[in-house]
Amino acid sequence: MYEFAVAPAVTQIRRRGVVITEVTPESLAAELELEAGDRILRINGRAVRDYLDFRFQTGGETELIMEVRKQSGEEWELDIERGEGEDFGLGFEQIVPRQCANECLFCFCKGNPDDARPSLFIRDEDIRLSFLYGNYTTLTSITEDEMARVIDQRLTPQYVSVHATDWDIRAYLLGIDKERADISGKIRRMIDAGIEIHAQVVLCPGINDGEVLKKTVEDLSAFHPMIKSVAIVPLGLTRYNTDTRLTAVSPEFCVRTIDEVSQIQEAYQQRLGTNFAFLGDEIYLKAGKKVPTRKHYGDYPQIEDGIGMVTSFQQEFDALVRKLRRRKLKAGIPQVEATVMTGSLFAPVLKARLEKFNAEFGSKLHVIGLENQYFGGDVSVAGLLTGRDFLGAKEQIRGDLAIIPASSLKSGESIMLDGMRLEDLEKELGLPVHAMDMRGFSELFM
Ligand code: SF4
Repeated sequence: MYEFAVAPAVTQIRRRGVVITEVTPESLAAELELEAGDRILRINGRAVRDYLDFRFQTGGETELIMEVRKQSGEEWELDIERGEGEDFGLGFEQIVPRQCANECLFCFCKGNPDDARPSLFIRDEDIRLSFLYGNYTTLTSITEDEMARVIDQRLTPQYVSVHATDWDIRAYLLGIDKERADISGKIRRMIDAGIEIHAQVVLCPGINDGEVLKKTVEDLSAFHPMIKSVAIVPLGLTRYNTDTRLTAVSPEFCVRTIDEVSQIQEAYQQRLGTNFAFLGDEIYLKAGKKVPTRKHYGDYPQIEDGIGMVTSFQQEFDALVRKLRRRKLKAGIPQVEATVMTGSLFAPVLKARLEKFNAEFGSKLHVIGLENQYFGGDVSVAGLLTGRDFLGAKEQIRGDLAIIPASSLKSGESIMLDGMRLEDLEKELGLPVHAMDMRGFSELFM
């Protein structure tokens, strides 16, 4: 889910150039009298479509001609000299994502309640967001211009939803014809141009699992190291996605998948020196198995896709405990009583850590594992919990504050997926609510 990384495109109209939204005081841009609302049209005669173009066309340049349309409508041509690496001090409008032309069976947009935030309905398929935020694209409708841009501007790595290299099956999953589903030529072209790829498979029981999955990973491994990793994540069904062609992921299916993929991983470890294909944390948790250790993930190539997040959390948590042990001897630890709310899948992992933590440091941290009532179905990850879900646990909350996952908020804003604001949740619960990641949690005790 990357809905927070994109702007609500439906309300935006594309004009020439890129709009400045911020100018840092006393920066080069301020000296040039650039202002928020101005539009940069061209740099050294080349059109600027967005801030990536701006970055690309100004990178390494110390002498530039910048064409600007001021908010007043006036057009300026600025002859600029800047020091090597000198920052302009500019902030820009967000990129308006290009939308996909697929009809994937499992598209999360189909599983949204009608009243979900508009950004949840954006079907983004944009090589720029892939490069910037790790959003996946299917490459099915990439234009020649976009392909050239990836290569020229070295927008590497790209994150590609492959799902299956049996192109008939991929076509079926994406709801498109086979010709468009076959992206082998596009992948090869990127790789030949030195663009690295991280691939993704959304695993749909009975469709692209078993032998199909094996073939997919094997085909992709032929391009290692340019294809760096394959993330295998389970299909997620909300109560609103009732497509009968889809089968929910069961614990038994997860156990079987772990067995099958472990064998493949062993072979790749020997052949390529990496596991290459990684299973989503949800698969281990649903199967009731321990998540792999840090070594399994290497440098966590696809952590944003839920691959190794739990292991990374455990590592960070253990590091915090070690730090607090040293601090306890010197200055003592604040005694905190709070309730931590998280998704039902992650709750047992968190509870195990926090129980030990309480015993050692005297805190009273309670864990509530919430079922996702808003989306329903088998949605159990923390980041998709909503204000209404947290509110539903009101009677179980103990202590002086409630802690919710930072990932359940829109990035940079205090708003949840169902549109509820953090301050409204606090009002309704009658106590402070902190949206936290591990860093915020550490700060509670430091
Ligand atoms: S590519 Fe498929 S899953 Fe992604 S937004 Fe488009 S239809 Fe939905």
